[in-house]
This record gives sequence, structure tokens and C-alpha cells, in this order.
Amino acid sequence: MELQLEPLNLPSDQKRPFVICGPCSAESEEQVMTTAMQLASKGCHMFRAGVWKPRTKPGGFEGHGEPALKWMQQVKQQTGMLIGTEVATPEHVELALKYGIDILWIGARTSANPFAMQALADAMQGIENPVMVKNPVNPDLELWIGALERINAAGVKHLAAIHRGFSSFDKTIYRNVPMWQIPIELRRRIPDLPIVCDPSHMGGKRELIAPLSQQALDMGCDGLMIESHCDPDKAWSDAKQQITPEVADFIVGMLVARESTYTTDGLKQLRKEIDEYDNELIQLLSKRMRVCREIGQYKKEHNMTVVQTTRYNEILDKRGAQGTLCGMGADFIKKVFENIHEESVRQQIEIVNK
Ligand code: PEP
Ligand code: MN
Repeated sequence: MELQLEPLNLPSDQKRPFVICGPCSAESEEQVMTTAMQLASKGCHMFRAGVWKPRTKPGGFEGHGEPALKWMQQVKQQTGMLIGTEVATPEHVELALKYGIDILWIGARTSANPFAMQALADAMQGIENPVMVKNPVNPDLELWIGALERINAAGVKHLAAIHRGFSSFDKTIYRNVPMWQIPIELRRRIPDLPIVCDPSHMGGKRELIAPLSQQALDMGCDGLMIESHCDPDKAWSDAKQQITPEVADFIVGMLVARESTYTTDGLKQLRKEIDEYDNELIQLLSKRMRVCREIGQYKKEHNMTVVQTTRYNEILDKRGAQGTLCGMGADFIKKVFENIHEESVRQQIEIVNK
């Protein structure tokens, strides 16, 4: 399905990405107003705050709901900033619209659920507000596009995607792994869809916000959503990743906006995608070698030979067959695994002889 899109028309400086800033959660009238005033004084045009908070475990702060919408309304009246919040149910949509919320976004837990997305789409029928759909928690581009299609089919044309990274079982430096090849592929599939990066939920820590924001711009993102709190250490949710309005302003000021990196040049875009996959290949290989070294240690302790031919043949056969199923020549896969195996053996011999 082809998306019917219209420009978002959000306030931004020419050639710069637009920036949405504000706390993870609207905690109190005072916290909302103080943060908003500080952000507005730094020239911020768009304010975010979570009014309903999806929490992993019950018992955490789940948002103030309707009373917080009144504080948001006050932000709009007193600062002129546009206001945005997360909606997860049709009731949220109805209330958000009632209180004049300008930008609605759909969270990562909700976009992963087609039933919830359809219910939201039905509640958003024909609205003119910009609606931003965060990527689902799992790295599934089709699910993300499906979520956008549902909203678009309801006549919502001012759409954007928010890239906030993907959850992973592996321990990484990120809270949610960027997997840049996914938003790059999204850009290739739907070139006119603006993509916003959320470095706060991606990095999960303050130090990663600046580098991830720059990387997002280099990748051609159109906007940023950054969590900012007047007193980050005391935040009721996501404290580690929130920064003061002053720091947010400093970071945004430091960013280097590049000339449109991949919007026009299809080849460049595909090469970026290849670079990302190569990067992942290396990371995967290094993880595999780490396990091989552990096996080397085991072999040493148990006085086993490094090369175990039955196991080696099993790998070559199994992966050769899998490669064929995935459209690659069995010979090619065999060569790749012979080389990988050679390096594993080299590393294990080093360990065994230590
Ligand atoms: C948020 O933006 O505060 C949030 C809950 O984000 P996500 O849905 O990306 O986890
Ligand atoms: Mn948050």
C-alpha cells in the first residue's frame, strides 16, 4: 500500500532537523512548567511529556492522565510551543484532542500490536494533527510500516516515524540497539516519510545523546526527540537518560547538519545500508570468536584436540544447506565457513598453547 502523505509543517530552522524536547513524564505542574519555560527560553518550539506511561512492571508511575493534560495546555498558552504526548488507546486520543495536544505519538509497545494500532487508527479518523509512530520494540520493519499504513488509511496524512532503537537480549552499550539499516530501509521504501530519531530511549544514558543525535543527522533523519527534565536526577522515569534544557540546547547547537545525505542519491543510500550490514557482520563474527575462545579454554582443560572433524563437517553441511535455502551458492557458504573455522582454530591454538 502506498502511503498518502502531506508535509508535517513543524517549526524548524531551515536545513536543521526539527527538535521535540521535554520530560519523559509529566510529573507535576511545577516540573512541567519549569522544564517548559527553560526549554522555551532556549528557543525550543515543541514540547513533549508523557501523560500516560507504559511501564514494564506494575507499580511504577503510570502517569497522571487528564490532570497532566491541563498542565500541557498551560505550556502551550504560556510559551506558544506545540505540545505532544503519547497515546495508546482511543480514550487517550479523545482526551488528548480535547485538551489541544498538537502532536500525537504512538509508543514502541503499542506499535508492535496490530489490534491496538487499528483501534487507534479508528479513533484518529481524518485528524489533521501530526502523528508519529515509534518503531515496534522488536526489529520488524513490516510491522512498523503496517502500523503507519493503518493510521494513514484512516486519513491521517501528517505522519512521521520515530526511530528509538530495538530491544535486544544481548547486553550492548545501548538501551535499544539502533540497527540503522532498518530506518535506512524504511527511507528507501517510503522516501517522503519524515524520520525522527529518539536518541534518549536508544542510548538510555546521557553520554550517548550527543553522538547518537549526530549519527541520526548523518543518516538523514529529519528530526530529533530528546528527553529533557529540569532536574534529571530526580526524574520519576528514565532518569539516567534525561538532560537539563541547558544541556539539550548545548547538544542541539553542536550538531552539524549535513546536506541531504541520502534523500536523493539512491546508490549512496544502498551503500549506507551495506555498510550497516557489514558492521553487523563484524560484530557477529567477533561474538562468535569470543565463544570459540571459551571453547578453546574448555578443550585445554579437558586435554582435547583443537580440530574436531565431526563437528567441523556438521557445520559445513548444515550451513551449506541453509545458505542454499537463502538463495546463496553452497560453495560460497562453504568457503565462508572454512575461513571462519580457520580463524577460530588459530585463536584456539593460541589459547591451548598458552
Ligand atoms: C517515551 O517516549 O517516553 C516512551 C515511553 O518511549 P518508547 O515508546 O520509545 O519506549
Ligand atoms: Mn521515557
